[in-house]
Formats: sequence, structure tokens, C-alpha cells
Amino acid sequence: MTVLVTGGAGYIGTHTLVELIAAKKSVLVLDNYCNSSVKSLLKVTEITGVKIPVIEGDINDKECLNNIFTQHDIESVIHFAGLKAVGESCEQPLKYYQNNVAGTLTLCEVMGKYNCKKIVFSSSATVYGDPTTVPITESFPLSTTNPYGASKLMVENILRDLYQSDNSWNIAILRYFNPVGAHQSGLIGEDPNDIPNNLMPFITQVAVGKREFLSVFGDDYDTKDGSGVRDYIHVVDLAKGHLKALGKLEKNIGCVEYNLGTGSGVSVLEMVSAFESVNGQKVPYKITDRRPGDIACCFAQTDFAENELNWKAEKSLSDMMADAWNWQKNNPNGYE
Ligand code: NAD
Ligand code: UDP
Repeated sequence: MTVLVTGGAGYIGTHTLVELIAAKKSVLVLDNYCNSSVKSLLKVTEITGVKIPVIEGDINDKECLNNIFTQHDIESVIHFAGLKAVGESCEQPLKYYQNNVAGTLTLCEVMGKYNCKKIVFSSSATVYGDPTTVPITESFPLSTTNPYGASKLMVENILRDLYQSDNSWNIAILRYFNPVGAHQSGLIGEDPNDIPNNLMPFITQVAVGKREFLSVFGDDYDTKDGSGVRDYIHVVDLAKGHLKALGKLEKNIGCVEYNLGTGSGVSVLEMVSAFESVNGQKVPYKITDRRPGDIACCFAQTDFAENELNWKAEKSLSDMMADAWNWQKNNPNGYE
């Protein structure tokens, strides 16, 4: 019995593969490498000693999916495959809806055809829009401010409808807060294609000398120091959450949403100073205007995942900083 990992060559996928293999799961990766390369999977092999079976293909390709389900005994799917750049999604919304929404429809259709009805889906805290209060519980109202977020919320709604129509599905919707850091080995990590959009890879690229300074997007928010506050979670903790969710699907849960975060809010300026003190590296920064669409503050209420999945983020902010830096300094050009 095999777990199909769509998007397994990506940032969160590779870290989850390491945990799946440690738990002796049989895995099969499906990835079209639109935002990754096979090199990341070779590194997973280096860490685990296990060769990762991989199909190069697209979740939109029904024939490819049919072949996978015909040729392999797939018992469940962890579905990471998706595009994730907010700015790009505003410029090319159709690409995002095609890939993230239509691709997931095709995947679910083929899963149903082969009676594989267990899926763990990568959603995001972005589905909470601009929350009126924090911490955010799973029952907060849902809204979105850009096509990327809308694609995640659409898929969530599709999955909820799917379960309503057929109660034999078991679906875990994981709403990630802000994944950062890297595997302790320094062999796998986040490898942005271009100029990073996200804070953590930008900080590490400044520290390694690839960028001159960090722009801190606003210091006039209503937060502890005026800069934006987020719930950063170590990617290895996040990966472990997927194993717990996969296990939970065996218990006939239906369709359930879980916040995966730490429950702590950390500001941009706190991130910079934590990085500097843990790694002894300066991160020059300038305060600039707010980034359009950004919210002031977002962090999770994590009790539900803790109680239901028996999972809790264990790694500290210092671990996140040390591991992110270890990856960046050993691989200044990512997997290239
Ligand atoms: P990533 O880009 O590193 O990994 C995604 C992988 O999916 C890549 O290897 C890419 O090549 C593959 N892929 C994309 N479209 C595909 C398709 N049509 N067919 C086959 N493969 C395809 O991203 P990540 O950070 O690992 O994120 C994984 C998932 O988690 C995504 O769905 C993302 O939206 C979601 N998510 C990420 C974050 C984050 O900050 N990293 C936060 C919340 C949610
Ligand atoms: N941020 C920043 N400079 C950057 C990138 C991000 O100041 O170059 C801030 C951003 O405004 C937000 C926080 O860092 O307050 C996290 O941003 P990121 O894009 O990583 O995650 P998201 O906004 O999606 O939660």
C-alpha cells in the first residue's frame, strides 16, 4: 500500500517524504518539476538511504493519473502539488485556477474512480483573510484577497462538497501558517526560483550576500513593534503533522480542517534579530512601505490539532533560524 505524494519534490514535500520513509511508508512521488527538480529527491535519498520512486507528470493529466492508479496500489494521497506565489497569481489568475483547482478536480475524480478516498490537502492560513482577532481557530470565517488564496478556498469547498456527496471519503485539510527552516542535515530546504517573496528565504539570501538588504514591509502596523506578525513553523514539525493527519484518516474522520502552526506570533523585526543572534550574521534592513494585501497579524490557535492529531510543533524559533541558515550557507544556489 503506497502513499502518492503529489508535489513531493518541493519544499514541504521533500521534508514530508523523509518523515514518511522514517515511518516505513511506501511512497510514490508525482511532480512536473515546474517549481523543483529531481535533485531534491536525490537529497531525500541521501538522507534516508531509500530511492524515491517518482513519476514526472502533471496532476492535470488524467491519463498519467489513470496509469498511476492502475499500476500502483495507492491507498492515500498527500496533495502538495500547486503553485504558491501570491503576486504571480494576481498577474496570471487562470494559470492558478487551472493548476490548483482544475488539477485537484482531476486528481479527485481519478482517485474516486479507483476507490482511493483518503486525501491530505495543503491549504493555508490565507483562507482566513484578514482575521478580526487572533489567535485564529478553525471555525473563523473564511475569505480571500488574491487568486492564490481563492484557489485554496475553492479546493477546500470542493473537498467539503465531495465528502457531503459521498461519506466514504476521508479528508484532512491542513491550514499551514508560515513554514520556514530546513532539515537538520542541511541537504534539503527551500529553494526559491527567483527573488524570494517570503521573509525567511529573503533573510538568508541577505545573510549569504546574494541580496544587499531586507525590505521590512511597514513598521506602522498595530503590532508589538509595528512590523507584521506571523506564526512561523519549522518545516520538519509541519512534515510530522502530515503523518499524524494520514494516520487520522484511518479513523473515518470525514472532512476535517486543522491549523498547523505554533500558536506564537513573531514580528518581522523579531525574526531579523533572532536570525542575527542565533547565527552571528548581520541582516541589514530598511523599512519600506507596506506590501499591498498584507495583513498586520496572523497566528494560530493550535489546540484542535494538538488534541485531535496528537501533534504539536516542537522546534523553537532558534531551531528555525539555525536550520534555515545551515541550508542556505551550504547551498548558496539551492539545488543548482
Ligand atoms: P513548492 O513549490 O516547493 O512545491 C510544490 C511542488 O508541486 C513543486 O515540486 C512543483 O513542481 C509541483 N507542482 C506544481 N504544480 C504541479 C502540477 N500541476 N503537477 C505536478 N506537480 C506540480 O511548494 P511548497 O512550499 O512545498 O508548498 C506545497 C503546498 O503547500 C502547495 O500547495 C502550497 O500552496 C501549500 N502551502 C505552502 C506554503 C508555504 O509557505 N510554503 C504555505 C501554505 C500552503
Ligand atoms: N516581509 C517583509 N519583507 C520581505 C518579505 C516579507 O517585511 O521581503 C514581511 C511581510 O510583510 C509579512 C511577513 O514578512 O509581515 C511574512 O511574509 P511572507 O511573505 O513570508 O508570508 P505571508 O505574508 O504570506 O504570511
